[in-house]
Amino acid sequence: MKLHILPAGLGQFFLLEDPHGLFLIDCSTPGKEDVLLAKLRELGRSDLKLIWITHAHYDHYGSAAALRRLTGARIGAHPADADDLARGGSPLGSPRGYGFLYLLGQPLARRIHPLPPAPPDFTLEDGETLERFGLEATVLHTPGHTPGHTCLLLANGTAFAADLIGSPRRPHAQNLLATDWRQIPPSLAHLQAAHPQVVYMGHSRRPITGQALQGIRP
Ligand SMILES: [Zn+2]
Ligand SMILES: [Zn+2]
Repeated sequence: MKLHILPAGLGQFFLLEDPHGLFLIDCSTPGKEDVLLAKLRELGRSDLKLIWITHAHYDHYGSAAALRRLTGARIGAHPADADDLARGGSPLGSPRGYGFLYLLGQPLARRIHPLPPAPPDFTLEDGETLERFGLEATVLHTPGHTPGHTCLLLANGTAFAADLIGSPRRPHAQNLLATDWRQIPPSLAHLQAAHPQVVYMGHSRRPITGQALQGIRP
């Protein structure tokens, strides 16, 4: 299993390349589908099977609907974010620190590049796996940033923590935006209890070690 991280605008694509299929985690902002399509051409592959959306935010599913249309891949997410995905929602909750900048910036971004709705084809709860798509990965429900925020844990010990964790230099739990701040500490504990070896975050190309994850205090 090979991981390609494709930065695109405010977000990025995490593309998992396996001999029997390609799997995508998150879809950046609207209008970035060409970044992913160029990578598929470079790889000489057209078998994108799955798009897992970690949460219903503008910078994580913006290009999901276009990629489903262009590749036929199925979109999956946690049920608690399904309604927002279906109506083009991107709930920012109550900001802390400079998180208020997102409240100012998102409406502007949405006016320039509207957020296409991306109703999921299927939903998975905490502890369920993506094995029926050929991907050995478990869904960890880690709410707080959004109600249906999830982390994905691969069988090889690699985790994708999306926006639960920030900053590779000084890793910390989400401290800018949450729909429910009380859920962040137990969600961090939930990811820590899964003991991943390597952890990728939603807005960094560089992962942190499992040891660094264990050192994060809520
Ligand atoms: Zn987010
Ligand atoms: Zn994000």
